[in-house]
Formats: sequence, C-alpha cells, structure tokens
Amino acid sequence: MNLFLGIDFGTSGARSVVIDTLGGVHAEGVCTWKESLVTMESPKLWKNGLFELLNQIPKDLCSQIRSIAINGTSATVLLCDEMGNPVTAPLAYNHSCDQAIVERLKAIAPPDNPVLSSTSSLVKLLWWQENLTPPPPGKLYFLHQADWLGFLLHDKLGISDHHNSLKLGYDVVNLCYQSWLLEAIKWGGKFTPILPKVLTPGTCISPINRQLSDRFRLRPDCIIRAGTTDSIAAFIASGASSPGEAVTSLGSTLVLKLLSPTAINVAKYGIYSHRFGDLWLTGGASNTGGAILRHFFSDRQLESLSRQINPNTPTLLDYYPLLQPGDRFPINDPNLLPRLEPRPSNDVEFLHGLLNAIARIESQGYQLLQNLGASPLQRVYTAGGGAKNSTWTTIRHHHLRVPVLPSPHTQAAYGTACLAMRGELIKKSSC
Ligand code: ADP
Repeated sequence: MNLFLGIDFGTSGARSVVIDTLGGVHAEGVCTWKESLVTMESPKLWKNGLFELLNQIPKDLCSQIRSIAINGTSATVLLCDEMGNPVTAPLAYNHSCDQAIVERLKAIAPPDNPVLSSTSSLVKLLWWQENLTPPPPGKLYFLHQADWLGFLLHDKLGISDHHNSLKLGYDVVNLCYQSWLLEAIKWGGKFTPILPKVLTPGTCISPINRQLSDRFRLRPDCIIRAGTTDSIAAFIASGASSPGEAVTSLGSTLVLKLLSPTAINVAKYGIYSHRFGDLWLTGGASNTGGAILRHFFSDRQLESLSRQINPNTPTLLDYYPLLQPGDRFPINDPNLLPRLEPRPSNDVEFLHGLLNAIARIESQGYQLLQNLGASPLQRVYTAGGGAKNSTWTTIRHHHLRVPVLPSPHTQAAYGTACLAMRGELIKKSSC
C-alpha cells in the first residue's frame, strides 16, 4: 500500500497523520511539550517532537510511507548557521517587533503587502539584523519553522515554500524576491542573511536522509516535500478545492477563507491571499468568535442552551460581540466598541443574540471578500469548536444562504498528509 505522512507543528505540540491514497487514516500520533513559549530550547523540543512522532508510527506502516510533508506555525522563524544550527532563539508567530521597522518598510514595500505588520517574518528578520550584536559569524540562513523541520529530514538547508514565505515578502505572483525586499535586507547592514529558495508547496525536495530512514525504518526513497502553514493545512483538510468554496473556523476567533480565481490584498482589513494551485486562497479574521461565548458560558451550557434556541425564529438583539474594543475584519475600526446590550434575563435569548450576531459578521465578511472581487460563495465548510453546534449551523445558513457543512477533516496534519500524497497544489509533480 502507498501511504503518506503529514506532520503539524504548533508552538506547544505536534501531531501526525498517516493516510492512504483514498484519504483513509492509518495512524495518528501526538507529542506535546510543557513549554509553550518559544525560547532557545524550542528547536531542540521541536526536533525531539519530530523524531518522537516518527517513532510512534507502527513499523509495518513506516516501510509503506512514500512521502512526508510538514506544516509549521506561520511566521515562526529561525536564524541558523551553515550547519542548520539555530544561532539565537526563534521568534514566535505572535512575537511583535518594533513598529518603527514597519513604518520604514512602508516606504518601499508594495501597499497592502503582508510584510507590513509588526509580526511578519520580514520584520522579524530586519529586527534581528538591527539587534543581534555582535552579529553571529559566518553565513546565516533565515528559515521558517516548517523549513527547518523539513531540513532535518532532507538535509538541504535553505528551502521554503510560498505559503510560509508570503509574510517574508516573497512575491507569490511572479515567484521571486523583488528588488525592494533585497534592498530592505541590506539596511540592517550588520549581516546579510541567506533567504530560502522558495518552492511550491508539495514540491519534491529530496529523498529522506539515509540515517533517518535507517533509524525509523522508513523507505530510503521516501520523498520529503515542501510544506505549508498550519491554517492552510487545515483548509486543505476540508477538501475544498473549487472557486467559491470556503472554510469558516469557529474557534476562539472567527477566521474565513475563500477560494477564488483572483487574489485580494487589502491590509486595512487584514485580507491577504495565498497562491493555492491555480487559485487564490483569500480571507480575513475577526476578533469576534468562540472566546466571547466562553466568556459567558461553559461548553456544556453552550450545548444545552443552544438546544433550546429555535434557529428559525429571528432575534431582535443587535450585538457586535467583542471581548475588548476594536476589530479589523469585516469592519476596520480599532476603536469599535463591543455591543452586548440589552442583555435579556433569559440566557437562551442572550445566546441566540450572540450566535446570530457572529453569524451576521461571518456573512458580512464573505460579502466584503466578494465585494473586493472574490468568487461568489458556493459552500461553507466549518471547523473549530463551534462546528458541532447544529443550531448555530442553521442560523448561519439563514445568513449565508449557501450549504453550510462540517469539515470532513479539520486537523492540519491531515491536510498536510493530503499535500504529501498529491504533491500538489502544483500542476505537475517535479519528481
Ligand atoms: P481555538 O483552537 O481557537 O482555541 P477551538 O477550535 O478549540 O478554538 O474552539 C474553542 C471555542 O469553541 C471556544 O471558544 C468555545 O466557546 C467554542 N465552543 C465550544 N463548544 C461550543 C458549542 N457547542 N457551540 C458554540 N461554540 C462552542
């Protein structure tokens, strides 16, 4: 049998899924570590986690695994020496650098480029260039978390994919680093890092390193493929693949992703687009979502109260549920006030108002994407903690007016296993 391994790395844990050519799951693994902060120790934890996951796979399956891909947390980055050893602690996806660097970048980066954020990979790199004193000696390689973990498997230092590299400023339309970016990394002056060679996610990089194939009884011809980011891996897991298909993630926040033939980038709404095969994966994230539901109710209360709501009757409560002021998408207003009043004495009515408001914001989000040129919405898959709430699904269906379905698979590791299998979103496999 031909099997394919996907590995999903977060900051405090990693998961693996082994699938066959029909998408059937043959093995799953998990590895967590206590330290969720990213420190100098993190790469060691990630490496041990990777090997622990390979060790967990039943040996009879290992010999059938044809290819492996890894996804990492978007914009978690490392600086490494020529041997691939990190020379400083990685910077985590949510590490916010000096806003002054963003302001300087605004003078040369294209407007609406995803690098124009204090957490972008490029801003982290420029921060290192300014603040690592004395600069580490020798050649330095800039990598994302998934690139570095892939390197441990294939030994080729300095390779990335264009999902991870979007926030580094890689031009995913023309598939190159533009001159403004090369200019920007000369500013730092103290050292000039080697930027990764960027491949299409799923591209064959090389067979697995021989030592590791012996150690984990993997096939010596098991191919390591270019990876992706965690949220795109979760999108791939849904199976959505046509224009107009979307995935809403109802986790702590509300995240929308919509496939479209056109790319949309509007920084003020935090909207940017990833190349996804021949299409573009566009989307945005609102600060509303499950966190505010959890603020008022336990998961158990959410279940029992939701059962008592009639989703086919309207609610007159007009909320904008936020834990603190400010939203970016679909309304760009850093001072937007939460609207949570009047609060009825009956919790069933209150929750109905909250669920309805989040559904309305979801619908406004998809409307905004379409107004900016995305494909008309055809179908919405749902992931995250709110996906299991059938009352909410009905309310959302009233707002969205297209089929609303649970995602058949929601795990990022599953999506990355699909990437390992298809070697696609590329048209032709390069192997
Ligand atoms: P994240 O990964 O962003 O932390 P999850 O996908 O684990 O989030 O989802 C957790 C969220 O799901 C919580 O904020 C919780 O309020 C919400 N949630 C859990 N159960 C329900 C339910 N039955 N109905 C609606 N929301 C729910």
